[in-house]
Amino acid sequence: MAVIAVDCGGTNLVFGVFDESGGGDPAGVRPAPARAGAIPEAVVAAISPLLGPEVSAVGIGCAGLVDHVNGRLVWSPHASGPAVPLGPEVARATGLPVLVDNDANLAALAEARLGAGSGGRMVLFVGLGTGIGGGLVIEGRVERGRGFLGEMGHLVLDPAGPLCACGRRGCWEALVSGTSLGRSARELAAADPLGAVAHAAGGEVPRGEHLVVAAAAGDGEAARRLAAAGGWLGRGLANLVALLDPDVIVVGGAVAGAGEPLLGPARAVLAETVEGGGRRRATPVVPARFGRTAGLVGAALAVGEAA
Ligand SMILES: [Zn+2]
Repeated sequence: MAVIAVDCGGTNLVFGVFDESGGGDPAGVRPAPARAGAIPEAVVAAISPLLGPEVSAVGIGCAGLVDHVNGRLVWSPHASGPAVPLGPEVARATGLPVLVDNDANLAALAEARLGAGSGGRMVLFVGLGTGIGGGLVIEGRVERGRGFLGEMGHLVLDPAGPLCACGRRGCWEALVSGTSLGRSARELAAADPLGAVAHAAGGEVPRGEHLVVAAAAGDGEAARRLAAAGGWLGRGLANLVALLDPDVIVVGGAVAGAGEPLLGPARAVLAETVEGGGRRRATPVVPARFGRTAGLVGAALAVGEAA
């Protein structure tokens, strides 16, 4: 049977038809609604053309605090408004069973079962997108705590640091994420309108990917900013290794596409700053296998299991 998989992150709503073993491709992408209350309607509008007799269920990953049991989006830093009964509303509109989970939990499941973390007993997934989503999979199962485990993007690493989407300062995701790299890109382009970042942006509002392109083209300041972000990634990972000591850390999300210029400094700072670093086995920090589709693959796997 086929399932419809949806990944509603902080910026994009991506969707597609997948089989229950996680095979498939994204069918489309739309802007993620800025209001939580608009998400059910946006999901239904996106997936309606994909519905058919072969589709047996819908799996939705959503950024923010998700009540997995009742399919409710409780709170999101990226979509304002009161809690939304996302699962029940999409189920009513489509007539299909609907599973809703945190987007990073689903991506973590995909990477632990089929991706870069497969074979590890405890797999920590860190998804770098608009913010940072996290998921922990132990022996193939998502570990949830009481429901909201993994909101690691809002660990405060620098109380005097930049303002975060959650309203506090210096959260991990305010220091390294698509949002923070975008801010650096805009600063560099404004400081040097003829420089490499502005050139990479080509007249668009500069985004993190333009900083990555400029760094790869040899722009020293862009490379320094990217390495600094990687350093913050490593500092946060050091805290998580001290807490969890996972077998492997898988770094995914759109920002992980920056590759070694980001992950290299992260590994170095992790090794330098983790407690007892010289006497621990190094924790592998590896790029995700599924990239932007991890959440969709995970949604399909989760739906297949719940069926
Ligand atoms: Zn925050």
